Amino acid sequence: MIINSIGVVDTATQRPCTHFDERPSGEEISLLVIHNISLPAGEFDTPFVDDLFMGNIDCHAHPSFSDLQGLRVSAHCFIKRTGEIVQYVPFSKCAWHAGKSEFLGRERCNDFSIGIELEGTDTSGYTQMQYNALQSLTKLLMNNYPAITKARIVGHCDIAPGRKTDPGESFDWQHYFAALF
Ligand SMILES: [Zn+2]
Repeated sequence: MIINSIGVVDTATQRPCTHFDERPSGEEISLLVIHNISLPAGEFDTPFVDDLFMGNIDCHAHPSFSDLQGLRVSAHCFIKRTGEIVQYVPFSKCAWHAGKSEFLGRERCNDFSIGIELEGTDTSGYTQMQYNALQSLTKLLMNNYPAITKARIVGHCDIAPGRKTDPGESFDWQHYFAALF
């Protein structure tokens, strides 16, 4: 697995989307943010996360999707329950994953972070295949973007407390970090 000069992972499934913008000029990528998502919540292997990131979700497909009307979001990568990594935005660009956020006093975390979504919920746990894929991807990211250190790998809950809870209590940080540090 390698990352090319614009930040594309060679082995990831590529689904380039339009939900991104440029990083501020000279910005160093220095934060990794772990999230979860599933649509509908708790249902896996549906087409809807892909539809959301690609900007073509049918908000009438499920009652809970009415909240998603007009929402334009993305992540750099989405890791499915099978461990498949799908990439929507090259790391050299800002994906729209963090929203209103703050890390160590700095706002707009999208500007300097990479966002990875795990298919899941706060309480359902994650598959070993997801941990394996996330660990491999994290190693690769730390090699390519050395400002991402252990202290700069966080959950969405850590940069948007009170607003976001993902990746949730079921994400095993110790297990994740054990293969890395
Ligand atoms: Zn999130």
